[in-house]
Amino acid sequence: VSLLIVGSIGIDDILTPAGSARNTLGGSASYAAVAASFLSPVRLVGIVGSDFPRRFLNLFRRRGIDLLGLEIVPGARTFRWTGRYHENFSSRETVEIHLNVFEAFNPRLPAAYASSPYVFLANISPRLQLSVLDQVRSPRFVAADTMDLWIRTDPSRVRALIRRVDLILMNDEEAVLFTGERNLVAAGRALLSAGARAAVIKKGAHGALLFPGPGMPLFQVPAVPLARVVDPTGAGDSFAGAFMGHLASRRSTAPPALRSAMAMGSVMASFTVEDFSLGKLARQSSAALRRRHRGYLGTFRL
Ligand code: AMP
Repeated sequence: VSLLIVGSIGIDDILTPAGSARNTLGGSASYAAVAASFLSPVRLVGIVGSDFPRRFLNLFRRRGIDLLGLEIVPGARTFRWTGRYHENFSSRETVEIHLNVFEAFNPRLPAAYASSPYVFLANISPRLQLSVLDQVRSPRFVAADTMDLWIRTDPSRVRALIRRVDLILMNDEEAVLFTGERNLVAAGRALLSAGARAAVIKKGAHGALLFPGPGMPLFQVPAVPLARVVDPTGAGDSFAGAFMGHLASRRSTAPPALRSAMAMGSVMASFTVEDFSLGKLARQSSAALRRRHRGYLGTFRL
């Protein structure tokens, strides 16, 4: 059962308290696709320029990701982002962003993609997320992620997106910004009131909250406890990709599947933050994943 992922694919420069990395593979869809690829077949929709390194394409291919929906524009430049984290990794600033090829991107889904049952709209402008959503026919489950930039610059499209998807994911700061609620339980309920069928609020090292629907009890998972974090970039995207890959592999979107997807998301995100870019996650084996998953469940089972 295939999972369609659209979002940014780019080249990042990153500075964290643990070091720095230049010209690394980045983008919300890159992280989500690689994370999901451990769990289900993935179709990637996005755009890059001819400067996009071949080794990044090879990484996607090694993970078995279907690249039919990836547009490579001759002579154009790939999306670029530079980010810097402060002392304790808790806050981050965008130092530079160049949308480049994304500025004029009009995604056209390959015909075979239109019937994808599971769809993840990873972080990119809500205009593009809605355009992809318009092209899929009766998907079983659609999730969307967004970020502060779009909440500030295009709030009406973010609101429209939330009403059209089955699940909206935001991190804690974005949920507070969007809803105006400082308390995260209140913020999650406010997302449901805004028309979200379900919502996930990611809290970084403090885990994640699932609001499965109006009137339903919330569910929470801790983060995997780690002794050393190198780069938190893409943790949320890996969480979401794994969450959706898990639903696709279980062929279920019922509450028990949503809850176990929360655990799978946490495990996959934990590999991402242990190195820059996809340095650690992309090298994992299914056995290593299962081991960490088992150990993680043991950290909070009574
Ligand atoms: P996250 O840490 O989950 O926010 O995701 C980080 C990734 O998002 C980086 O690899 C960036 O390339 C990408 N990114 C940063 N800003 C944007 C943006 N405005 N739109 C889409 N992707 C972005």
